[in-house]
Amino acid sequence: MSPSPKPRPGLRQVDAYASPQVDVPVRLNTNECPTRLPESFFAMLAAVVRDIPLNRYPDSEMTRLREKLAAHVGRPVEMIWAANGSNEILTELFLAYGGPTRKVAIFEPTYLLHGRLAWLTNTDILGFTMKPPFVLGPRDVAAAAAMKPNLVLVCSPNNPTGNAQGLDVIRRFAEQTGALVVVDEAYIEFGGETALPLVDEFANLVVVRTLSKAFALAGARLGYCIAAPPVIDDLRRVRLPYHVSTLTQAAGIAALLHTEAAMAIVDAIRAERDRLLGGLAALPDVVTFPSEANFVLFKPPKPAGLVWQELLDRGVLVRDMTAVVPDALRVSAGTTSEVDRFFQALEEVLT
Ligand code: PMP
Repeated sequence: MSPSPKPRPGLRQVDAYASPQVDVPVRLNTNECPTRLPESFFAMLAAVVRDIPLNRYPDSEMTRLREKLAAHVGRPVEMIWAANGSNEILTELFLAYGGPTRKVAIFEPTYLLHGRLAWLTNTDILGFTMKPPFVLGPRDVAAAAAMKPNLVLVCSPNNPTGNAQGLDVIRRFAEQTGALVVVDEAYIEFGGETALPLVDEFANLVVVRTLSKAFALAGARLGYCIAAPPVIDDLRRVRLPYHVSTLTQAAGIAALLHTEAAMAIVDAIRAERDRLLGGLAALPDVVTFPSEANFVLFKPPKPAGLVWQELLDRGVLVRDMTAVVPDALRVSAGTTSEVDRFFQALEEVLT
């Protein structure tokens, strides 16, 4: 046997990025939308899929999809880009604006993929720590600006803490750091103020969104961003050829034609999120963190790893966040019956 190949240094020290996909009755661990879009969405998609010329490469400019996204956010199509999930949008942003000798400011705890992408692209991480209630302020802007980052990542509402950042601080990042400010708005439909108006004002600010959460399309893998046209041109330079499949583009267009139905689902999820917040806060010695997203971070009064396992034993999967926020678990807002089952299981575990 020839010797096995050597990967890049450090590769074997990192784990594959994934949340456990356990087949359980109540899955509240990845902030997915708990319900499907209505049947009319699937009928529309099926009708299109029948005639899709799959022997041909997709429209690499994603023209119809980007036109629909442009109408959705009320900006010209030249300010819109799409990719396979907002994960790929973020990847393209790192490829275009990060890289060796360049620096990204990241405020932790936040979405772990941000740091992972920095590592993948050899971008130096300027790591800053947020303390509860995880709200960024002028001092954080000054601290980041002093380090002269090329990229600043702000997640709002933030995963896993749930809180949103104010537009005033996001504006300061754009004004004072000289970096490309990336606002990850994966959860914006559930709460918080969008930084979209700042995109019209600042050439160095990009808003990143996804159809995985509010549009119930996690399985299709579709994300997008809004930025000044030169930023979009830079993403065009780093994307892989024909990166978004014709099927994904069709799914995105059909989903956007069902925006009203998706927003009705969002309303229901927000109500469940508030029920989670209220119900958890009412339990003795449970610490909760306010949330504008479709999930709630909380600290149970027993060891979090144990509570996670005991919930799983009762068919309820939540996310163990102890590596990111000590003693904390994160639960996604599901359907009414899923949230009921979560509370039933949690009360059993805690008594
Ligand atoms: N940003 C944040 C903050 C997220 O939590 C997630 C999903 N967990 C994503 C981006 C990526 O979502 P997707 O690639 O499905 O659009």
